[in-house]
Amino acid sequence: MILTGLHLLWSYKCTYECDHCFVWGSPWQEGTFALRQLDEILRQGRELGTVEWICFEGGEPFLYYATLLRGIQRAKEEGFKTGIVTNTYWAIEEADALETLRPFAGLVDDFSISADLYHGDEVQTTQVQTARAAAEKLRIPVRIITIAQPETEDTTEAIGQIPPGESGVMFRGRAAENLVERAGRKPWDSFTECPHEDLRDPGRIHIDPLGNVHICQGISLGNLFHTPLGTICDTYDPDSHPVIGPILDGGPAELVRRYGLPHAESYADACHLCYEARRDLRSRFPQILTPDQMYGVPEDE
Ligand code: SF4
Repeated sequence: MILTGLHLLWSYKCTYECDHCFVWGSPWQEGTFALRQLDEILRQGRELGTVEWICFEGGEPFLYYATLLRGIQRAKEEGFKTGIVTNTYWAIEEADALETLRPFAGLVDDFSISADLYHGDEVQTTQVQTARAAAEKLRIPVRIITIAQPETEDTTEAIGQIPPGESGVMFRGRAAENLVERAGRKPWDSFTECPHEDLRDPGRIHIDPLGNVHICQGISLGNLFHTPLGTICDTYDPDSHPVIGPILDGGPAELVRRYGLPHAESYADACHLCYEARRDLRSRFPQILTPDQMYGVPEDE
C-alpha cells in the first residue's frame, strides 16, 4: 500500500451536527489531536517517503485554532502540501475572516469549504461567501464541497475523495440513521461492490486522534501509536482482511453473506448496507470496527 495523502481528523468535535456527517461530528463528540501526536504522525509520514499531502479535517478543525495553525506550519516546514476542510463558522464578517485566515496565507495548498443545505439555510451562506472572499483576497486556493440532498441520485464519481461541486450522500455514519428514509431503496444483494473507496490501494487514509488508521471511516487498519504506519502499510493484505476481503470479493452483500448477518430486504446504497453490517460485526472485530465515535455510540455506553 503506497500512501500519498494523510487526512487527519483534527477533532471529532464540530459546531454543527449535520445529518450527512460520516464521522458523527458534533459539539458533544470527544477526541482532538495534540501537537505531540502530530509530530509523531509527521515523522512516520516522512519515513514512508511517498506522502505528499497532510490534510486537516474534522469535525471542525478551526475549533482548535492554535494547534491547527501550528500543525499547518509544521507540515509545511516538513515539505508536505497542506489542506484544510472547514464549515466557516468563524467567518462572521470580512475583517474577522481576513484576520483568521491571514496566518495561513502561503501555507495552505487546498482550502475546502463545506457548503450545502446541511450546514445552513442556503447552500452558500453569508459566512461561506465571506470566508471564500477572504481566502481569494489572501490568494489561498479555495474550493467548495457540496453534498446533495438524499433524494438526489448519487453523483459521486471520484474515488476516495469528495470532489469539488455537488456530490451525492453516502449513507454511512449519521446519514445511515437520519437520511435513509428520504432516499430510494435497492435490494440488499444488488450491492456487490464498494463504489467509493479503492480498498486495494487507497492512496490516502484518514487518521483520528486516537491513532486509528481508517481506510474508510470506521474501518481501522491499525493504530499508528502502537504499530508504525510503515508496518501497517507493508503488512496490509486486503484479500485476507476479515472485513475488507469480503467487500472486495462481493461488496457489502458478501460481507453480510460471509458472516450470516441479519438484513433488511433493501438499502439506500452500498454504504448503508456496509455500515449496518459493520455495526453488527463490531463485537467480533473490535480492533478493526472502531472507535465508538465512528458508530455514533455515546461516551457513557
Ligand atoms: S461501501 Fe463500505 S467500505 Fe465502501 S465507501 Fe461505503 S461504507 Fe466505505
